[in-house]
Amino acid sequence: MGVDLRLGTPVKSLAAMLSEDGFDAVFVGTGAPKGKDLRLPGRDHPRIHIGIAWLESVAFGHTETIGENVLIIGVGNTAMDCCRSSLRLGARNVKVMARKPRQFFKASEWELEDAEEENVEIVINHAPKAFEVVDGKLVGMRFEVMEYQIEGGRIVSERVAEEVLIPCDDVILAIGQDNAFPWIERDLGIEFDKWDVPKVDPATFQSTRPGVFFGGDAALGPKNIIWAVEQGHQAAISIDLHCQGEDVSQRPSPGMRMQSRKMGLKEWSYRNDYNPLERRLVPHVSLKERFKQLNIEVELGFDAERAAAEVQRCLNCDIQTVFAAPLCIECDACLDICPTDCLSIVPTGTEEEIESRLRAPRRTREQGLYVSAPLKQTGRVMVKDEDVCVHCGLCAERCPTNAWDMQKSWIDTPHAEDVPRCSR
Ligand SMILES: Cc1cc2nc3c(=O)[nH]c(=O)nc-3n(C[C@H](O)[C@H](O)[C@H](O)COP(=O)(O)OP(=O)(O)OC[C@H]3O[C@@H](n4cnc5c(N)ncnc54)[C@H](O)[C@@H]3O)c2cc1C
Ligand code: SF4
Ligand code: SF4
Repeated sequence: MGVDLRLGTPVKSLAAMLSEDGFDAVFVGTGAPKGKDLRLPGRDHPRIHIGIAWLESVAFGHTETIGENVLIIGVGNTAMDCCRSSLRLGARNVKVMARKPRQFFKASEWELEDAEEENVEIVINHAPKAFEVVDGKLVGMRFEVMEYQIEGGRIVSERVAEEVLIPCDDVILAIGQDNAFPWIERDLGIEFDKWDVPKVDPATFQSTRPGVFFGGDAALGPKNIIWAVEQGHQAAISIDLHCQGEDVSQRPSPGMRMQSRKMGLKEWSYRNDYNPLERRLVPHVSLKERFKQLNIEVELGFDAERAAAEVQRCLNCDIQTVFAAPLCIECDACLDICPTDCLSIVPTGTEEEIESRLRAPRRTREQGLYVSAPLKQTGRVMVKDEDVCVHCGLCAERCPTNAWDMQKSWIDTPHAEDVPRCSR
């Protein structure tokens, strides 16, 4: 596409880029490269490492060994990479030290499971207090053992139960990353907040200097790859508008479309068999093999046959049950056929009252109930618990009046190519 890609060329001055190179717009996607430090007593010991820098050093082959006993502080993505890399460098006893209970962890459950499978111990409720250095040797780390009172999924109070010393040879700090912009001059009209992070509009991703945009970890702090990609898309829309001399805040809105999947009396243009198969685990390289080489990819992925079986478990979440209350004659046929009893026709009332009248008890309140407009015959309402529905389409197949339909939904997230060009 004619992009001029300049590798191995760190940008040392944004001012120079803006004035000398004459770009109309600049997108800053430089990530959050600075690992957070933990300034506690004993910190300056050389066996205390910053996670992201340590991983980089391992990746480039500068660090090839580590002590037998390693403590990882923090329990996010970086911590998971640090604990498993430590094992591959020869550590025998690796503990990931978490301040809070497991439900507050940032790392995904499957990453934790993979680490635990490799014998990494995840220790909860330990708040770092100090590094223990004796005669110049790092011998361990002191922690406060925390007790939390949790209400409604939130910590409402905490207390220190005791203090403990956990021995170790190395400590790796994986408590987060910060943005760092030593190459952005502070007199360019780009405002920085009190944490020295540029002020970025969360919709347009434009900084306070028109024409300079941020995205990914550099924009609103470290998140993950999906966020970085989406923010890149949003910034691209803004850059396109900016280069056309238009207002970056006038952007196309997201849209939604729905279309019936009905093909005939009992025919649907999607596969609606409910498959109760349990999820299959992605095969992994055996525990014996995976430590032989640092960069062995542990997850092997599915073969074609397994992938095909997994696909059949799809619940067709893009196919929605759509109800037209005026068409319903309250014959109860859909209620009778529904395999999960997630449909009920009940007198209307408050959410609690409706909930108490459902045919299948509601399992979670995280997802709202669908409650229709009053039905013509009796004024009662059709209620559906979406959390239980398996999108089998039997209700729509059985309904004599087409009051239920199965419709495919599309969510249209605009990208730069969708920006209307009529005004140009
Ligand atoms: C150890 C670790 C594990 C992670 N694991 C996951 C995971 O499993 N899943 C997930 O979704 N996310 C994960 N993340 C987060 C994810 O990596 C980031 O959110 C994502 O990479 C951010 O993308 P980005 O493009 O904003 O920045 P980056 O991917 O960080 O890219 C920034 C680029 O800019 C370059 N750069 C920096 N400064 C300059 C400069 N002055 N001049 C020129 N180039 C420069 C850097 O060299 C780099 O190539 C992890 C992060 C870490 C640190
Ligand atoms: S799609 Fe199937 S599970 Fe969902 S409401 Fe209709 S019959 Fe019940
Ligand atoms: S089958 Fe159709 S008409 Fe009968 S109760 Fe259900 S939605 Fe109403």
